[in-house]
Amino acid sequence: MHTFYDAGHNRHDPGQLPQANSPDNDLSLEVPRRATVLYEAIKAAAFGPIIAPGDFGIEPIGDVHDYGMLNLLQHGYRLWQEEKTSLPLIPHTYSVRPQSNRIPRSLWGMVGYYCFDSSTPILAHTWDVAYWSAQTAVSAAALAYAGSQKVTYALCRPPGHHAASNMYGGYCYLNNAAITANWLVQQGQRVAIVDVDYHHGNGTQEIFYGRSDVLYCSLHADPFNEYPFFWGHGDEYGDGPGRSYNFNYPLPRHTDEALYLRTLDEALSKVRLFVPDILVISLGLDIIAGDPAGSFQLTVDTLPKIGARIGAFNLPMVIIQEGGYNIPALGEQIVAFFNGLLGK
Ligand SMILES: [Zn+2]
Repeated sequence: MHTFYDAGHNRHDPGQLPQANSPDNDLSLEVPRRATVLYEAIKAAAFGPIIAPGDFGIEPIGDVHDYGMLNLLQHGYRLWQEEKTSLPLIPHTYSVRPQSNRIPRSLWGMVGYYCFDSSTPILAHTWDVAYWSAQTAVSAAALAYAGSQKVTYALCRPPGHHAASNMYGGYCYLNNAAITANWLVQQGQRVAIVDVDYHHGNGTQEIFYGRSDVLYCSLHADPFNEYPFFWGHGDEYGDGPGRSYNFNYPLPRHTDEALYLRTLDEALSKVRLFVPDILVISLGLDIIAGDPAGSFQLTVDTLPKIGARIGAFNLPMVIIQEGGYNIPALGEQIVAFFNGLLGK
């Protein structure tokens, strides 16, 4: 297995900023150490080479995301500095239920238009790091598509699955999985995305909601209880030509292994019916008990079982790192998942 990893990710560090929705004013969970711990574990387990991503340019990103949002992510921090402030660029007014789709000219207005929560600040190096996170995913996809490596791992940071076409949030700026899936479609591939992060991948769902060329299946905590709250219900099946190409499996808090695996089997049966050429897996390790962002009662021993079920497809696949915040446990978790996937 080839792993793609950009060591420069540590330049984006929201770790000193307060976490959204935290009654105790905890600091952000999305810190550089997450990815370095995963990197060290993959290296120590000797799964294969770890290489830096290539540059596929802005096009694969712009094919999925709105250029107004990309401009804000790219230039917002500099413009913010010109307003002589050292604060991170976080909205204070949001475009919830907007009267119109007119985009404000003011930076405050713009950031409230494109950003949907307070946990996703634009900092000095955010654009650069998010750009290379997306390139990491596309590089991994290109190798899996070329066929020389059946399984590739994109060790992305920041994560991506909450970022929609014209909206970012939930620690996510660019949707690495969606950019990758869309790029693979452009190469003539039929793509199924399986999202096993604890949270619903609202961004991925939105990007493909009206399309039948990409199947999206997600297992996640019920949005009635958990972030991102407004998307991820079981009756969101897709729209127009995308109808029946979107499947959500909301799960109760404290879901155990038996229920999780039974539900995963159901989701994977949809993937089988779709007959994909290639799989894109949004992997969140926040499904394991002890994660500060999760509630499920799965243990590290569940991960090889999840990996084995996905590996049984015997198709080319790109594993894309999404969440996972229990830093001391991440190394053991990622190795357990790949041991199952690779049949070790
Ligand atoms: Zn998550």
